Amino acid sequence: MIVVLLGPPGSGKGTQAKKIVVEKGWAHVSTGDMLRAAIKSGSDLGVQAKKFIDQGMLVPDGLVVSLIGERMKEEDCQRGFVLDGFPRNVAQAVVLDQMLKVVGQGVGQVVLFDIADESLVKRLSGRRTCSQCSAMYHIEAVQPRREGICDQCGSALVQRSDDQSEVILNRLKVYHQQTEPLIKFYRDQAKLVTLDAAKAADEVNRSLTRALG
Ligand code: AMP
Repeated sequence: MIVVLLGPPGSGKGTQAKKIVVEKGWAHVSTGDMLRAAIKSGSDLGVQAKKFIDQGMLVPDGLVVSLIGERMKEEDCQRGFVLDGFPRNVAQAVVLDQMLKVVGQGVGQVVLFDIADESLVKRLSGRRTCSQCSAMYHIEAVQPRREGICDQCGSALVQRSDDQSEVILNRLKVYHQQTEPLIKFYRDQAKLVTLDAAKAADEVNRSLTRALG
């Protein structure tokens, strides 16, 4: 089973993907996490990607597509995987279909995380992320037991450079302009299910589990 989680930044795709892959035994494929790892490693890809990420823009399709192409071949993806943050525009979705067709597969289900922009700005500006394991927290809604320290691995919590207010607004603009057309793309293929992503995380998890059957 190949599942695409579609939705604006801060809608909870990453949080929900992490839970559902454990429940289903699938792999979690997050292009954002892969790009941040590339930045951390100082690779050429990371250096190129950082310029775009820091401005809230999409990283060029060619870079992201080759990253995904390699990732999908890995052992843990063979039982199924959840795509979180990919595809981000119609061109990427078309290439994804082509890559999957070559191996006799296809996108099974697309889940749209529906939530208003106002809630996203609040969520993203208060978001704190573990510098090591990328677990997510929020300064009001999801506080760690010890301030600034990840409950899961004990590393420092940081604010992502693209979770600063000016960059957040640009990321939302990019979502509406470039990613939203994917709603029609997948609705036309009868693959889209929509869930209310403004609800509490546990409730969203239940909706997602139901949607995936
Ligand atoms: P995310 O963690 O999914 O919010 O992604 C963080 C940033 O990484 C985005 O704002 C983009 O700059 C970049 N990025 C992640 N996935 C993609 C993608 N599929 N295509 C282009 N850029 C991406």
